[in-house]
Amino acid sequence: MADIILKKNEDRRIKKGHLWIFSNEIAKVEGEPLDGDLVNVYNSQNNFIAKGFYNKHSLISVRIISREKEFDLKKLFEQRILSAYNFRKYCYPDRNSFRLIFSESDSMPGLIIDKYNYTYVLQIYSVGMEKNIELILDILEKKLDAKNIFTKNEEYFRQLEGLPIEDKIFKGEMSEEIISDGEVKYRIDFKSSHKTGFYFDQCDNRIFASNFCKDKKVLDCFCNAGGFGLNAAKKGAKSITFVDSSKKEIENAEYNFKLNNFSCEAKFVDADVFNFLESCISSNEKYDIVIVDPPAFAKNKKSLPNAIKGYEKLNRLAMSVLNNDGILFTSSCSHHLKEEMFIDVINKAANKAKKKIHIFYFNNASLDHPFLPSMEETVYLKFAAVRIIE
Ligand code: SAH
Repeated sequence: MADIILKKNEDRRIKKGHLWIFSNEIAKVEGEPLDGDLVNVYNSQNNFIAKGFYNKHSLISVRIISREKEFDLKKLFEQRILSAYNFRKYCYPDRNSFRLIFSESDSMPGLIIDKYNYTYVLQIYSVGMEKNIELILDILEKKLDAKNIFTKNEEYFRQLEGLPIEDKIFKGEMSEEIISDGEVKYRIDFKSSHKTGFYFDQCDNRIFASNFCKDKKVLDCFCNAGGFGLNAAKKGAKSITFVDSSKKEIENAEYNFKLNNFSCEAKFVDADVFNFLESCISSNEKYDIVIVDPPAFAKNKKSLPNAIKGYEKLNRLAMSVLNNDGILFTSSCSHHLKEEMFIDVINKAANKAKKKIHIFYFNNASLDHPFLPSMEETVYLKFAAVRIIE
């Protein structure tokens, strides 16, 4: 097995719990490790600090797997996957669908597994994980009754690792599933859906927001499969307007509305949210509750200034269509927009909209998306509940 020797002091972050070694932190590679091989990592004084998967073709040269020198990879993976599973069932005893493995946060760097009943959808963003995928498949089949297993990778992250842009069906087929988030049912059409099929990260926030929706006129912007609006319907909203610029997603939200036999007034609008909100302002159409859950506007650090402008405009427009005493549930899933920046965006939007507000709740992602305090890279979603006071 090859050895990686770090430059002086480059073990500090790793000792605090970070799991990535960047290429510029390495002094020497002893041996000829192939991409995806396990390597030993030593600090500059030649003390062993960890073992991880090597990748010469990524800025993240090593993804740490263990602080132990000796271990059985299959047993380690099995223990970690089952521990992650048990924690999800502890959080959500009545659910069969959730994010089972959230990469570094579940000590499985570069691997995401979402569970939809007995269909497991993977995203593989590490050569080491890809090389050892048979171990993972075996655990999912033998321990977690997998019927279908396939990947739905995002090109961007595969490219960063130098992995081929491809998806695979490992077992069964890529069919549809009907899942539940505990309150509402959804049809998941894997062939056409975003990400692995569903945004599990907002499940807790959807249920939180729905508790304020009884008898209210609700606007669900960037609704995708309809998660926020459907939960609002479940809690007795008076009316719901679903808006998404994807025709396919709006049809999906409508399908899910019918699937749940909801009967409140509902509109399904295939439109750009910015245009839709502007038209509401022009026609003086107001709402009691507005949800905005846009895609990430800042994909990288460089795009942050423009993204901030976008978030500010979006939140200003959303606040402008709220009645006094109305509530805005607003989100950002841009990792580069930190919490304090997001709060500042909300404040600036309120000033521009000439609204007095307070924030009465703040959250990150659902319980099945934990983050590591040692790795700020594992935090991305922000969710705020904003009340218009005057
Ligand atoms: N709120 C959803 C997730 C939103 S994902 C949930 O709870 O699951 C973001 C959605 O925004 C996608 O469905 C995408 O089609 C839509 N979208 C992206 N840009 C948009 C725009 N400018 N106007 C309207 N919808 C947009």
